[in-house]
Amino acid sequence: MFTKTLREAPADEVAKNAILLIRAGFISKQMAGAYAYFPLGKKVLDNIVQIIREEMDAIGGEEIQMTVLQNPDVWQKSGRWDDDIMDVWFKTKLQNGSEVGLAPTHEEPLTHSLMPFIRSYKDLPCYPYQFQTKFRNEVRAKSGLMRGREFLMKDLYSYSLGQADHEAFYEKCAESYIRVFNRLGIGDITFKTFASGGSFSKFSHEFQALSPVGEDTIYVSRKSKIAINKEVYNDEVLANLGLNRDELTEEKAVEVGNIFTLGTKYTEALGLTYTDEAGAVQPVYGGSYGIGPSRLMGFLAEHFADDKGLVWPENIAPARVCLINIGQDSSVMANTEEVYDQLIKHGVEVIWDDRDARPGEKFADADLMGIPHRVVVSPRLVAEGKLEHKARTSEETSSVTLGELLKLV
Ligand code: ATP
Ligand code: MG
Repeated sequence: MFTKTLREAPADEVAKNAILLIRAGFISKQMAGAYAYFPLGKKVLDNIVQIIREEMDAIGGEEIQMTVLQNPDVWQKSGRWDDDIMDVWFKTKLQNGSEVGLAPTHEEPLTHSLMPFIRSYKDLPCYPYQFQTKFRNEVRAKSGLMRGREFLMKDLYSYSLGQADHEAFYEKCAESYIRVFNRLGIGDITFKTFASGGSFSKFSHEFQALSPVGEDTIYVSRKSKIAINKEVYNDEVLANLGLNRDELTEEKAVEVGNIFTLGTKYTEALGLTYTDEAGAVQPVYGGSYGIGPSRLMGFLAEHFADDKGLVWPENIAPARVCLINIGQDSSVMANTEEVYDQLIKHGVEVIWDDRDARPGEKFADADLMGIPHRVVVSPRLVAEGKLEHKARTSEETSSVTLGELLKLV
C-alpha cells in the first residue's frame, strides 16, 4: 500500500471529514473542492456506490454513463446554458473556439438522447441512472467531500406515461432511498424532508441527515419521521401535512439525496413525446432523483468519527480486519501470514500492517483508518496459540483462536 497516515492535513483544510480522510491516506486534496481517491478511499466510495446501485437496480433502474463534455445546443433548448439561470457552469472552448460545458447535471442531454428510442406508449416507462462525476462551480467549497466542485453523483431520471405513473414510481424511489440510508447506517438520523417543488408538484423531497455542520435548517417530526425544509416552513404547509408546531424541532442537516418531479419541463423543451393508445401525441412525464456518494462518504466519515479517528460501519469499511504483527521474528511472521491467508480464503478483506514499527504506532494507525476489527499476533500470543481481537468501537480486547476469529468476522 503506497499511502501512509499523515500527521497533518493541508493547512487550508478546515472540514473535519477531509482532515481525517487525508490524514488516514484515503483522499488527496488537489485544490479546494477537488479530491483524489487513494486505494482505501476508493474502496469506501465503491462500497457506498454498490449499495446505491443494488437499490436502483431493484426498482428497475438501468445503469448508463453519460458524458462530462456537454454540447450547448441541448442546454439552449431548455434555457439552462445561460449562466444567469444555471449559475454553477464550468465552461471551456474547443480549439475552433466553440463552447462546451462540463456537466453539472444531465436532464437535457439524457432527454435528448432518448429521442430515437421513445416513440409509443409501449416504450415507457424507463429509468436510466448513472454514477458520474459532476462539475459545479460552487461559491464555497469548505466542507471537504460534502461540497465539491468536482464530485460524484448518482442521478436517476424517470420517464413515465403521465402524472399517475410518475407518482407511483416517485414513491417507490423514495422508499428505495430509505433502504439506502438504512444500509449506510444513518437511517435513524435521515429524514424525508418536504422542500420546494417547482411548477409540477407542490413539494420536492430532500433526504436530510442531521449534522451540526449541516448547511440546511429543517424542522423535524421524530414521531412522523418526516421533516420540513425552512424554505417552505409555514402554517399552510404544516396544516397540509397534518403536523403540529410543538412536535417539531429545528435542526441542522446535510442534504444527502433529493427527488424531484420535473413533469414535462424538459421533455417539452427537448421535444421528447410519445403516441398514446388513442394515437395522440403526448409529452413524456419526468422526474430526477439524486444521491451524492462522495458527499455521503464525507458525511459518514464525520458522523461516525471519534477522538482517535475514522470509524467505518462494517459494510462501508475498506477492509474488515487490520492485522498487526508485533515483532518480526519468524514464528510471528509465519503465524500472521497464516491468519492473513485464512481471512482472505474466507472472503474477509484484511489489511496486514507488516511494517517494522512500534505496536503503539500500528494501533494508532488502525484506529485512525477506522478498520472495524483489529487482530494482533505477538510472540506471547503465538506461544498460547491465540490471537488478540479488538473491535474499533470497543476498548476491550479478547483472546481468541483462529477459528473463533473467523466466526467473529
Ligand atoms: P445543495 O443544495 O447541497 O447544493 P443541490 O440541491 O444542488 O444540493 P442536487 O442538484 O439535487 O443538489 O444534487 C443531487 C445530490 O448530489 C445532492 O442531494 C447531494 O447529495 C449531491 N451534491 C450536490 N451538490 C454537491 C456538491 N457540490 N458536492 C458533493 N455532493 C453534492
Ligand atoms: Mg447546489
